Amino acid sequence: MIDQNPVFIPGPTNIPQRLLSAMQVQTKDHRSPDFVNVFGPVLDRTKRVFGSQHGTVVTFPASGTGGWEAAITNTLSAGDKVLIARYGMFSHRWVDMCERHGLDVHIVDCPWGTGAPSEQFESILSADKEHAIKAVLVTHNETATGVVSDIAKVRAAMDNSAHPALLLVDCVSSLASMPFEFDAWGVDVAVSGSQKGFMLATGMAIVCASPKALAAMQSTTLPRTFFDFRDMIEANGSGGFPYTPPLPLIYGLSASLDMLFEEGLSNVYARHTRLAEGVRRAAGAWGLPLVAQSSDLYSDAVSAIYVPAGFDSNALTNHAFEAYGVSFGIGLGEMNGKAFRIGHLGSLTDVMVLSGLATIEMAMADLGYPIELGAGVRAAQDYYRVASTLEKK
Ligand SMILES: *Cc1c(COP(=O)(O)O)cnc(C)c1O
Repeated sequence: MIDQNPVFIPGPTNIPQRLLSAMQVQTKDHRSPDFVNVFGPVLDRTKRVFGSQHGTVVTFPASGTGGWEAAITNTLSAGDKVLIARYGMFSHRWVDMCERHGLDVHIVDCPWGTGAPSEQFESILSADKEHAIKAVLVTHNETATGVVSDIAKVRAAMDNSAHPALLLVDCVSSLASMPFEFDAWGVDVAVSGSQKGFMLATGMAIVCASPKALAAMQSTTLPRTFFDFRDMIEANGSGGFPYTPPLPLIYGLSASLDMLFEEGLSNVYARHTRLAEGVRRAAGAWGLPLVAQSSDLYSDAVSAIYVPAGFDSNALTNHAFEAYGVSFGIGLGEMNGKAFRIGHLGSLTDVMVLSGLATIEMAMADLGYPIELGAGVRAAQDYYRVASTLEKK
């Protein structure tokens, strides 16, 4: 029965029954008109979720990490200089990937719990008179710390320094949960995946590229074959794929878009804000601080919460699973042992989040945390009773 419990990890997320069913498809010939009819509209509809009219969406059979590799290899050449800030495990992994591709990586190390340092970016970019920096790489939602970065501010920093670098953004754990404005923010490549806001199984990297990125791609030389945008875009142009497509995920994405648009993207974002605020109020009632250092940095997709000194967050998440069969996110990297994470993105309701808060409270009480059983749940209940958007009659 415990497989009926929702997960509270920040991806992969809970898969709604409707999407599980949509992904259950018998083999079809991907060269038949049948496939073209389903696949054709999917890429264009996905652009709406990115907030783009001018971009081109491409998908690859890969996890989000494959999307990163596609973004880097299509837009850069060996030895190119890139600027990237590191403020959590995911931005760290992006740094690592750039280094392994032989890029010249200018790292700005920031305290975990903070976000993209736009002012520092601006002074670095302004000083780069020769325009040696070819790309600025930003993690929109740092899943390890529950911090959202202001991409519009990064764009403003680039514009203020009149710097032509490309802006590459990881939105794996924010897209379809939090607002994303690809065109308005001047993003050149945005990378996401199927298993977070889209509520699908893992296995599809979902990428949006700007006309500027596609132009740059013509002269860049990092090796790419499987991830070559050119092959993908050419095949997609006639409704096809350059190799065998992940059919269940394409059918799943089509149904996921139906669900997101039926709810309405603004309602999806409002639901995430509401769910997140309930979790933040619970943390406040427990007296446990968030890793995110200020309210403008709070992620509506995941909250990383410090455990009190002398407690081990791994023991807490292990106990929650062993005693109650519920998964919470562990502390990653620097946060290992110090913080646990509550994922509150994807297919979740107020009621489901309350069950997660009640569970982690039981686990904390079992382990002798200085909290009052029910305090966090009550704080969230008080908030949801007022903030819930369902009609109260
Ligand atoms: C989940 C995630 C990724 C990608 O992870 P995969 O396991 O490769 O799908 C990348 N960046 C962020 C911020 C993430 O949350």
